[in-house]
Amino acid sequence: MIRSLPPFAAVVVAAGSGMRAGGAKQWRSLAGKPVVRWSIEALLDGGAEDLVLVVAPEARPDAEACLSDLTGWRLADGGATRADSVRNGLEALGGPETRAVLVHDAARPLLTASVIGRVLHALEDADGALPALPVADSLRRATDGVMAGAVNREALWRAQTPQAFRFRTLVDAYAAWPTGETATDEATVVERAGGRVRIVEGDARLLKLTYPEDFAMAEALIPRQIRVGQGFDAHRWGPGTSVWLCGVEIAHDQTLIGHSDADAGLHALTDAILGAMGDGDIGDHFPPTDPQWKGASSDLFLIHAVERLTARGGRLVNVDVTLICERPKVKPHRQAMRERLAALLSLPLDAVSVKATTTEAMGFTGRGEGLAAQALATIELPA
Ligand code: MG
Repeated sequence: MIRSLPPFAAVVVAAGSGMRAGGAKQWRSLAGKPVVRWSIEALLDGGAEDLVLVVAPEARPDAEACLSDLTGWRLADGGATRADSVRNGLEALGGPETRAVLVHDAARPLLTASVIGRVLHALEDADGALPALPVADSLRRATDGVMAGAVNREALWRAQTPQAFRFRTLVDAYAAWPTGETATDEATVVERAGGRVRIVEGDARLLKLTYPEDFAMAEALIPRQIRVGQGFDAHRWGPGTSVWLCGVEIAHDQTLIGHSDADAGLHALTDAILGAMGDGDIGDHFPPTDPQWKGASSDLFLIHAVERLTARGGRLVNVDVTLICERPKVKPHRQAMRERLAALLSLPLDAVSVKATTTEAMGFTGRGEGLAAQALATIELPA
């Protein structure tokens, strides 16, 4: 049975310049969401009663842009060192003295409720709690690239955050810390002040984004769900000399009538992608009453849907379009259509299918009154 979490507050440190990751990494997007927002949301969802985010004074606008639609957090200014930043955060937080405070590094975005629960519960019989992972690789000392002995890894742990303490314990420990010495983390500060810091199970996903390549690794660790959406569209035939289908113009003795270029294949596909995201339909995003879409190339609609997917940290897996008509013959144009869609969607060709069928002269497509299109899209979204 899951025990409910004791009340807690949090200080999130995002004041570093993150130069090793190629600039301020905490504002960069990770799977469609700013790095800093991942842990802020995890802490607020985990029940943080109060949350102070410590940032460099000049980064206040960045923080506000990333978090403006969330409530329950406030800002404090960072200091010259990490320790100064944490002290500023604690000062902004204030008491109560016995309240549990989690100190977390914004560069560790993939924080889970389980880790929050483990450090909080460990505080019941310790002065501090530290999530950590055992060292799996064997360790060696080396001098100038030449091995100079082995290190026993049995007693070694890789420290992570969030680290948990009582408010007063941490404030007093920092007050006792010798000036001029650099504190790597709060667990060290509390331990030096004589506190008993318990090590609890960390999480491999809590990796610290340090180098640019770490972003790709973190993205790969984010749980994703597969979703499927479907779309359908039909347009009426009218006088004309060519028709647009799946982004390709085909010479024909009629055209499809519509407000835009009437590309039913692209419309069905746009709806399939929006459908997979639960994000309305093409008419919601591009109302047919809006004159700016008159005669518009339907590429725009499709690209818009893909941009909305990307903004949510999602990606397309594959698409499958079926065109339903007696004429024109689709087969000679299928390859061009697949190539066009693959280019528009940045998908490999084997993830793009265009098929065609007739309805054996039955129904509105069979009588040549109009053309219909169906589409399926498979997407991945952060779970
Ligand atoms: Mg349409």
